[in-house]
Amino acid sequence: MKHIGVAGLGNMGRGMALSLQRGGFTVSGYDPATAAAESIAREGVRTFASVAALAAEVDVLILSLPTSDVVEAVVFGADGVLAGAKAGLLVVDTTTADPNSTRRVAAALAEKGVRFIDAPVSGGPKGAATGTMTMVLGGAAEDVAAVTPVLEAMSAKRVHVGPVGAGHVTKLLNNLMCGAHLIVAGEAARIAAAAGLDAQQIFEGINAGSGRSGVTQVNYPTWIFNDAFDSGFTMKLMRKDLRLAMGLLGELGTSAPLSGEVGRLWAASAEAAGTADGEDFNRIVQFIEK
Ligand code: NAD
Repeated sequence: MKHIGVAGLGNMGRGMALSLQRGGFTVSGYDPATAAAESIAREGVRTFASVAALAAEVDVLILSLPTSDVVEAVVFGADGVLAGAKAGLLVVDTTTADPNSTRRVAAALAEKGVRFIDAPVSGGPKGAATGTMTMVLGGAAEDVAAVTPVLEAMSAKRVHVGPVGAGHVTKLLNNLMCGAHLIVAGEAARIAAAAGLDAQQIFEGINAGSGRSGVTQVNYPTWIFNDAFDSGFTMKLMRKDLRLAMGLLGELGTSAPLSGEVGRLWAASAEAAGTADGEDFNRIVQFIEK
């Protein structure tokens, strides 16, 4: 597995391609956005005119795409993966995607002898660019083992969580919890301010206690307290993840009242000023439902 393809060269895929290249792999890419393709070509990554052409050349094809709809178009489309892939190709889908779609895609690829694992990521564009992402993997143990040397160039930590689809379920639950932590930490910061206290000092105390979370430990100091709001992960993509998590809850019929409310608040934020699609996802801490 020496030649790796990356389809989708946006905030995440671009960094993954560069990390793979630094790791000693031959890397090629595809993105229909000219700016993304030209930018990676300047880094010495060969770009292809279609996913089919890319899939025909590489040993492993990494997908880093906005949504499951795009993944399905890229796999099933006329110039897509199925049209070009040779048997033995291994597809690694790092998109945060709908697990049902993931299982459909994997089954269709398997019929052509193409292996598949879902490998959604955490760590943002910085983690992608530095090869320090966390990946949760869904797939057969032998496929995970086969592709591990490639994943090691992109990530600092990998957890194999179950069969195909399990990675995407895990990622949706992770982002549901992150979405909840952002809302509750935003409320805590407002309550601290209303009590005449300094939220930054209060959070230092909370980070020494059991109320801490990734949001209080990482998001607040890195992107919120300093008013940077430049994590590289948008409201639009996070709302998609919450929507997918709500779909999962609805489908399973599990009782989860707090999660349902978190999903509702994220959906409601789409209509508010300050939390539009292109804004940083951390802006949700400033969302107050009218
Ligand atoms: P992005 O919008 O920056 O990049 C997506 C890229 O896909 C774009 O360059 C776009 O041109 C390309 N694309 C669209 N249609 C395509 C097609 N048919 N074929 C090939 N490429 C196509 O998004 P991103 O922030 O890089 O996120 C990618 C995925 O990773 C999403 O599913 C997101 O939820 C997930 N994710 C993002 C972050 C983050 O911090 N940005 C973190 C974890 C996971």
